[in-house]
Amino acid sequence: MKTPTKIPGNHPRAESLRIRENLVEAFEAGAVARAGLIAHGRGEAFDYLLGEQTIQPAREAIRAAAALLLIAKRPVVSVNGNSAALTAEEIVSLSELVKAEIEVNIFYRTAEREEIIESLLVKAGAKKVLGVDEGNSACIPELESKRRRVSTNGILVADVVLVPLEDGDRTEALLKMGKKVIAIDLNPISRTSQKASITVVDNLVRAMPELIKEVKKLRQTKKAKLNAIIKQFDNRSNLQRCLSNILERLERLADERGLTG
Ligand code: ATP
Repeated sequence: MKTPTKIPGNHPRAESLRIRENLVEAFEAGAVARAGLIAHGRGEAFDYLLGEQTIQPAREAIRAAAALLLIAKRPVVSVNGNSAALTAEEIVSLSELVKAEIEVNIFYRTAEREEIIESLLVKAGAKKVLGVDEGNSACIPELESKRRRVSTNGILVADVVLVPLEDGDRTEALLKMGKKVIAIDLNPISRTSQKASITVVDNLVRAMPELIKEVKKLRQTKKAKLNAIIKQFDNRSNLQRCLSNILERLERLADERGLTG
């Protein structure tokens, strides 16, 4: 991501503002939907509560996600406008490392937006992008939106789907199809977070590079050990720890600022 010049480096929210600028730019280029900007705002609010840092439970979820991607037979990274705008390069690097397909899957679907997202991914080095203006598409059962269309070479036959920024209905539909879902979502109480097999409660912008690092660390690890890492991970208790982390931080901040009873 390039750094817009108008944000002073010493601004306390410099990184957050930089991300915001990049999203606005991607919105103007047609990759991000209007609702995508608002969804980002919901994410920002939770990131503020987390202290804009990768917390320990998220690190553990990232490790489990890396292990799951490494043992997957047909992993797919599902990409929408926001995730392409924020982490196109990381999506490409990760998919190369774990031999995952990349599939564009967007809520506000137009052929033009699909192509713009595809071009962001290609510019970032992707050699193949599924889900764009495809003849080879099928429908996910029990889903109304345009996101129900998936590639017959991608999500339809995937065993593990990484869904940075998903909605709850679609996560549930993918699970019902027998897939394992890895979500990256700043909101630990969203339906997506509650339903996913593994939820990384972190900003995509921080989580994706960490996931790549973890995959590199684990890629020589034996399958039995990878399976043990996955088995040890409990999404529900991980989400509880994420929430506790937010609550403790808020109490600490309230104390520091003299805002308690
Ligand atoms: P759900 O259907 O799962 O309950 P929702 O309706 O609250 O989700 P959406 O509006 O579909 O949410 O999508 C926004 C979600 O994406 C929010 O949960 C928000 O926290 C998360 N989000 C937005 N930006 C980021 C980001 N950069 N990194 C991680 N998560 C993000």
